[in-house]
Amino acid sequence: MSRLDGSDLVNGPSSRSRAGEALLEVRDLEVTFRRSGGIGRRASRVPAVQGVSFQLRAGETLGIAGESGSGKSTIARTLMGINQASAGSMRLNGENVGALRGRRLAEYRRTMQMIFQDPYDSLDPRMKVGETLLEAISLRTTKPTDPKRAVEGILDQVGLSRSFIDRRPRELSGGQRQRVSIARALCVDPRLILCDEAVSALDVSVRAQVLNLLKDLQEELGLAYLFISHDLSTLRFMADHVGIMYLGRLVEIGTRDEIFENPQHPYTRALLSAVPEPIVRDRSTRLPRVRLTGEPPSAANPPSGCSFHPRCPMAQEVCRTVAPPLRTTTSGQDAACHFADPVLVPEPARIGADA
Ligand code: SF4
Repeated sequence: MSRLDGSDLVNGPSSRSRAGEALLEVRDLEVTFRRSGGIGRRASRVPAVQGVSFQLRAGETLGIAGESGSGKSTIARTLMGINQASAGSMRLNGENVGALRGRRLAEYRRTMQMIFQDPYDSLDPRMKVGETLLEAISLRTTKPTDPKRAVEGILDQVGLSRSFIDRRPRELSGGQRQRVSIARALCVDPRLILCDEAVSALDVSVRAQVLNLLKDLQEELGLAYLFISHDLSTLRFMADHVGIMYLGRLVEIGTRDEIFENPQHPYTRALLSAVPEPIVRDRSTRLPRVRLTGEPPSAANPPSGCSFHPRCPMAQEVCRTVAPPLRTTTSGQDAACHFADPVLVPEPARIGADA
């Protein structure tokens, strides 16, 4: 198994892919939020996520990157049922999540767990670690015969000794708290873990330890991760596939190598060119620096055509009026840009043509 140290943050391991059906399939997901109009004004609907589709297989990691407000966390919160989808479908193991009720819905919620950026906020400060984990383990469909022993086993899995059972969150370091959050997620035997900026608040050495732990657990338990991060070097290490979001839409999605080695969308290129030089590649092959001007526009009042056009260094007249669809490029990934390279589609066979 690959281990993360400083140099791995530079290059990352090679892409891995495993055969198998999609564990999670998201199709044309839309999420809108209601915005109060203030006194004398009508409320409006603000699109936070639009037309997002992706698949995630067991044992794989999909990384999602984008600026703050791009909608990446909204996707995770919608999968968890914290936000409501306004359109589209989410299927887990082929089952339509929107149609689940009662026991099946409870099972779905156990299958998918979330790890947040700040574990201190998500752990009850009054409860000891052992109490938190015992409470979580009581939600299992098949209860362990000896819950206390099961808790000790899970602590061991996340690299914490039994002595942590009697500690409270305030007595733990940031890295230890995040390990407890991971342990709590493992208590219900999840198949998919949504990591929302899960290591962003940790310093570099602790971050490397937690990322290595997540990789080990993935290998051992076949977990799938939806890994949301603004830090592209983290995604380079963690992800098998990477999606780039801008103003609520996926503007590029592909394998990790496709995205990092041959980005097709100007926004992806801008994000990658902003990563410090030693982290992405050596000087000879480094992407030219693309400086983005201005702030991301408001989702309540998006630009016409390609929503990236006011900031895009390659924008042409057509970009102001025509929104580019997400389409497959000759490089393999999908990109939403008029000037990304489209795959040459062969002429359809003529019906009745001579053999
Ligand atoms: Fe830039 Fe035009 Fe491509 Fe949008 S469609 S990313 S504005 S070149």
